[in-house]
Amino acid sequence: MSDDRYHDTEEEMKDTKDGKDERKESDSDYEDVCFICRRPESKAGKMFRLPNHICVCDDCMHKTMDAVSQFDYQGLLNQPPTDDGDDRRFPNISFVNLADLQGDGGIPNKQKIKKKKRSEEKPEIDIRNIMPPHKIKEKLDEYVVGQEHAKKVMSVAVYNHYKRVATGTMDEIEIEKSNMLMIGPTGCGKTYLVKTLARLLDVPLAIADATSLTEAGYIGDDIESVVSKLLAAADNDVERAERGIIFIDEIDKIAKKQNTNARDVSGESVQQGMLKLLEGAEVEVPVGANSKNAMVPLATVNTRNILFICGGAFPDLEEIIKQRLNKRTSIGYNAELRDKYDKEKNILSRVTVEDIRKFGMIPEFIGRLPIIFTLEGLSKEMLVKILTEPKNAILKQYQKLLELDEVKLEFAQGALEAIAEKALEKDTGARALRAIIEEFMLDIMYEVPKDENIGRVTITREYIEGVGGPIIDIRSNSLEHPDRLNVIEGSAAR
Ligand code: ADP
Repeated sequence: MSDDRYHDTEEEMKDTKDGKDERKESDSDYEDVCFICRRPESKAGKMFRLPNHICVCDDCMHKTMDAVSQFDYQGLLNQPPTDDGDDRRFPNISFVNLADLQGDGGIPNKQKIKKKKRSEEKPEIDIRNIMPPHKIKEKLDEYVVGQEHAKKVMSVAVYNHYKRVATGTMDEIEIEKSNMLMIGPTGCGKTYLVKTLARLLDVPLAIADATSLTEAGYIGDDIESVVSKLLAAADNDVERAERGIIFIDEIDKIAKKQNTNARDVSGESVQQGMLKLLEGAEVEVPVGANSKNAMVPLATVNTRNILFICGGAFPDLEEIIKQRLNKRTSIGYNAELRDKYDKEKNILSRVTVEDIRKFGMIPEFIGRLPIIFTLEGLSKEMLVKILTEPKNAILKQYQKLLELDEVKLEFAQGALEAIAEKALEKDTGARALRAIIEEFMLDIMYEVPKDENIGRVTITREYIEGVGGPIIDIRSNSLEHPDRLNVIEGSAAR
């Protein structure tokens, strides 16, 4: 039997070579994965293709054949009944059909690795096509309000990074990787900046939370899972993933724990574990799953050209900076200026590597994030701008929604300021805006479609503060009697 099967397989191989590949076109972009050892085609070599999309690598096929030929029981299992009706087969014994275990589609593409592109295909990032920093910043300006310094630093860093990726080296001088550390209060746009950047550059982005990471072997995601996420974001295309961006949020939460003797599996060890990723290493990551196990194929991803951006609020960092600055002034004649820095607003921007080390980040870790910059907390003016100016500003989104009902939505300046003031009180940066707006827009979105006559809704400060209503203009009036519109508007405003 074994020999027959083997010949069948060979026949199939020939079919495949002749181009009679019955598999779907989209599947051919993905590497085949051995059904038995789970190694992808790039590692295990050419696969035998069995029916029902099962692939088996050369090694496993040989091992299986050897095993099967030993246990064939002199052909007892498969001999047909003799002419005199003597059935010598064992009853109720048959070989398991491997395909039954798999279901119809074979291994889903989610668990396969995309094939390497052939060399004649043009790389996506071409040195001549990289946007210069001022162009990158211009694009960022369309979405992100304020944070001028951060946008400038990021544009230059990203530009240099991709120049480095495109050329490999420059005049034999290896350009250092531009990994970044961004420090800024919550809700000031750290994640948003990175997301916008990745979208503009058309590179895959993985966002991970440092708090969920632990040293390998402990409960939690191990550090390499961030690369696995990136691979998933790149549709399992290893080459694309290798040019992607990994954003690790809440990086301040993996600071070294002070005064502890216990093993620090989610703090310092995570920093240690990240060192080799930040610098560039080959890591084996599971494809289409979060953890490595026997059933998941593995892919090797090189992190050398992956841009790592770490972000965190570093809550007590201001104190550390103040202490350092005060110490300097408290010596000698300037001693009386002790609290000089207590009232300074943007104290965070004076951060140095030493301060971050004091906070609990290990020197090797900081050393691998050469670009350190801070973001400002958002002011009332900035919040108002965030509401209205960016390309996809929240208020623009609501206006668009109501436009579909042919209703115009407007906001009085006082209303915008009232929203910003409320958001400032919550102390969660721009994140509070959406919650506040959703709260008062609910009624509007509920009531407006009820009455077809409504042509315009104007949100006022009074409405936001809960002491008045919005101004409603009736459509028929505004269309047929433009004069009456003012009257209504005037009376409602009163
Ligand atoms: P964090 O700094 O905590 O990572 P996020 O980037 O997640 O904050 O910001 C939350 C939301 O607030 C974003 O999705 C974005 O819509 C808005 N936002 C924050 N800062 C800005 C900004 N400077 N310009 C425009 N929108 C912003």
